[in-house]
Amino acid sequence: MRRNDFLRLLSMAGVGCITPGLAQPNQPTIEGEFEINPHFINSGPGFGNRLALTFDDGPTPGVTERVLAELSKRNLHATFFLIGSKVDASPDLARRLVDEGHDVANHSYTHPRLAGMSDTAVEQQLSRTQEAITRATGVTPVWFRPPYGAFRREQGPIASKMGLGVAYWSVDPKDWSQPGSSTITQRVLSASQPGSIILLHDLHPQTADAVPAIFDGLVERAFLPTPFHNFVGMPYA
Ligand SMILES: [Zn+2]
Repeated sequence: MRRNDFLRLLSMAGVGCITPGLAQPNQPTIEGEFEINPHFINSGPGFGNRLALTFDDGPTPGVTERVLAELSKRNLHATFFLIGSKVDASPDLARRLVDEGHDVANHSYTHPRLAGMSDTAVEQQLSRTQEAITRATGVTPVWFRPPYGAFRREQGPIASKMGLGVAYWSVDPKDWSQPGSSTITQRVLSASQPGSIILLHDLHPQTADAVPAIFDGLVERAFLPTPFHNFVGMPYA
């Protein structure tokens, strides 16, 4: 079975699909290369012990390196949703993510609330970031995460035309509110289950403080943190 057929079956079963309405027939197809309905997910396959560690808002010099060091110590791999302007500011750090075996994905160019923006402005946010990441790392992302999760379903085709699936999350410890590293760790470990997509930010030092205990705790619980390409695969194959 092709991977895309497999993912479609998962979607039909309600696994990881938060917009079943988009998969209904009789909906107009998208003009252009990707005549396929936009693919939205908020979790991955729930069988086995895989889950995904995702880090948003980087690369951030001084924080991202600390997260990378803790991943490397344990031979774990994650998915980094990068801000295009920060990739342009720190291309070597973005490149390092790929060199160390992590997945890179699109998190817009300047981190605006896309839901209130014109289609043209949204398209520019996504395409400039695709270009920045490709330039810095040699890898063109296939997943996009809207800043603040603020994205309208009608905007989905803007992403799918670029070959981008839209990835939300299922575990949010709200590390951005800086509740303390032990609280971040506890929130992640208590909410994680097979198939989880865990939302963290390589932006705040508190998150870097928390990751050793998060990684150790997940491994102790027999979870297998898995980068997107081995977990949710390609949105459109
Ligand atoms: Zn963000």
